[in-house]
Amino acid sequence: MPRHADRKSATRNTPDLRPRPPVMQQTLSKPAVVSGLGYWSGREVRVEFCPAPPDAGISFVRTDIAGSPRIPARIEHRIETPLRTTLTYGGARVEMIEHVLAAVAGLGIDNCEIRVNQVEMPGLDGSALPFVEALLAAGITALDTPAVELLVREPARLGDDQAWIEARPASGQGLSLRYRLDYRDLPSIGQQTIEFDITPEVFCRELAPCRTFIRKAEAEWLRQQGFAKNVTTADVLVFDEDGPIDNELRFEDECARHKMLDLVGDLSLIGHRIVGWINSHCGGHRLNGELVKILLQEGQKLHSRRRSA
Ligand SMILES: [Zn+2]
Repeated sequence: MPRHADRKSATRNTPDLRPRPPVMQQTLSKPAVVSGLGYWSGREVRVEFCPAPPDAGISFVRTDIAGSPRIPARIEHRIETPLRTTLTYGGARVEMIEHVLAAVAGLGIDNCEIRVNQVEMPGLDGSALPFVEALLAAGITALDTPAVELLVREPARLGDDQAWIEARPASGQGLSLRYRLDYRDLPSIGQQTIEFDITPEVFCRELAPCRTFIRKAEAEWLRQQGFAKNVTTADVLVFDEDGPIDNELRFEDECARHKMLDLVGDLSLIGHRIVGWINSHCGGHRLNGELVKILLQEGQKLHSRRRSA
């Protein structure tokens, strides 16, 4: 459920360190497959999510390249590309990974090998729902190793007046997110603010179905550049002054929810579960990535059980 935004900020600075049951690492019970076209490339791609052992983490494997190079889903391999999240390592690359990672992280899967036969992940309906459905159908298994959690210890903030992101110590036991979207120049999107405590149930219900969106002018520009030729207004949310063209919203504030979905995916590049409160004001992939780097420097990594020690 959305939380009230007027909670006293002081409570966020007193992490609850009382004993609690350990959070165990999880993986898939069996492989899951999702196929579709890449938004940018228009190429058909097959994504196979495979179980992985404790402490393996999340990694991509490019099966179409000789030697099947592995790209760990970690922030040090992130490079800046417009409108999407891209990783590169050992000469191999994977793009548009944020919705795939959001599905994996949102479901609390700590270890997974993601085998792909193209550089770009499938766009599907622009949400994380098709990935979530495939992963849930395969089943999720608890492993006998406690999860490592990264505890936000100090407030951190970066960005400028237009777009910024901040992290603070959590008042709860997990990750809480707030997102503020401000499209005052396009009133059919307007201003939207959402706040959720991220659990697998909340992620599946409130965020996973929310689709990527774009302004009509941006969509036209991309098409002129030769991108997204196979994508129609029925496939993604393209907004003009009146709202989405040829489409209906799944939530009134679907745009803000999608930005939070992206945030869940980008934050997973930290390589651990996060215990903290993160507030993004109009932030995107670049700020998300920079915050991950700061959290890794300043946060405290703890095995789940040891927080109470
Ligand atoms: Zn997205």
